[in-house]
Amino acid sequence: MSKKIAATPPPIEANPRPFVYRDRLLHCDGADLTTLAAEHGTPLYVYSARHISHRLQLFKDAFAAHPHTICYAIKANSSLAILRLLAKQGAGFDIVSGGELERVRKAHKPALKKVVFSGVGKQTWEIDAALDADILLFNVESEAELHLLAARAEARSKVARFALRVNPDVFAETHPYISTGLSEHKFGIDIKAARSIYRSAKKMKWLDPAGVSVHIGSQIRKVDPFAAALTRVTSLIADLRRDGHNIRYIDAGGGLGIDYGTTAFDPAKQVAKYAAALTKGLGTESAHLLLEPGRFIIAQAGALLTRVLYVKKNGTKTFVITDAGMNDLIRPALYHAHHEIIPIKEPAKQPAGKQPLPETGENKVDVVGPVCESGDFFARDRVLPPVKPNDLLLLLDAGAYGMSQTSNYNSRPRPAELLIDGATTKLIRRRETMRDLLAPELL
Ligand SMILES: *Cc1c(COP(=O)(O)O)cnc(C)c1O
Repeated sequence: MSKKIAATPPPIEANPRPFVYRDRLLHCDGADLTTLAAEHGTPLYVYSARHISHRLQLFKDAFAAHPHTICYAIKANSSLAILRLLAKQGAGFDIVSGGELERVRKAHKPALKKVVFSGVGKQTWEIDAALDADILLFNVESEAELHLLAARAEARSKVARFALRVNPDVFAETHPYISTGLSEHKFGIDIKAARSIYRSAKKMKWLDPAGVSVHIGSQIRKVDPFAAALTRVTSLIADLRRDGHNIRYIDAGGGLGIDYGTTAFDPAKQVAKYAAALTKGLGTESAHLLLEPGRFIIAQAGALLTRVLYVKKNGTKTFVITDAGMNDLIRPALYHAHHEIIPIKEPAKQPAGKQPLPETGENKVDVVGPVCESGDFFARDRVLPPVKPNDLLLLLDAGAYGMSQTSNYNSRPRPAELLIDGATTKLIRRRETMRDLLAPELL
């Protein structure tokens, strides 16, 4: 019997996404998405566990030569099952709220020891909870926060290990909403002011100046800005050592970007380039490296499955209206982000020699959601194969900043989430119900 070539998914290195056509139907690893949509309804988030583990492994391999801990940035995707999957493979976590701290506790308690706490607006109760959990490191973003941390550490007789999150004034080309490394941004402390603040911390008995931290933004594709930022940080660390501080950690933040389009993208090469840039920035500095990748780990492992409700023409424009909306995936509305959209049924190949359809108004469509906002779109003037009501579409690369940024806007229940692990499919979050939606309200 001849083996069906199409039945073997390509090796993961050759495909930056776990979604492949088999027998003309789209699959996530072993799972048929058409079946999953029928069983679980839409909109539906689907993730590949194998893909998530693979991305984590790429990071581990790339930094194998340097002592390091990978602290996955929870805000990218905070599902408990995904946190547990990562924690079991040795990951720590970057949190930005007391809520995310609770998620770590619930997902995998021992991982609390590998938590770093970032964010410009930490509140007293959040600092207290993190002190009690004995987290690894507070990334402090202002002098006022440092004073509050000192006071809370003293009140609880707990030593607080901290790093100042410095602002290296490095420009990284990305969307203005997710660029953070310039002095005009609200994040971090001017790197020039850091030395004197560390000096003042010496007088605070319950503070341990254990590291220096930096994070210059998100979805950064060129790696040079990472090297530039780390060069500035390592030079600060040398000064701090001269001042008698025992600096053991260097937190390089997150921010490594992915390719949301269709150009060839080799994640292994990308993370290797990133590691080379950080290594260059580190020079001979041997402090324990903390890495906070979010998007790079989870974005391409996940996708949002949606059903077409209507196809409607307004003059020359064609609108494909889906059952997913901006409340389910806000990235296009918020950042003008691009997501590839592919049909669940593989479109027929063009016969050899025949030109693909020209890009006319005919096959260009706007893919939009049902929410009452003109900003509720997934794609504009996109060339798609013909679609009709009831067809299923997949919005790719929605694993990061997808589910974690959902809302109940328009009183829409949040989608369900599935984690595919080899042959097994696990419902990791059920679809919200009307009862869930109304539960906190008082009449
Ligand atoms: C958002 C964030 C990250 C993760 O960024 P990605 O682009 O998803 O890798 C890491 N560290 C901090 C401090 C962040 O705010």
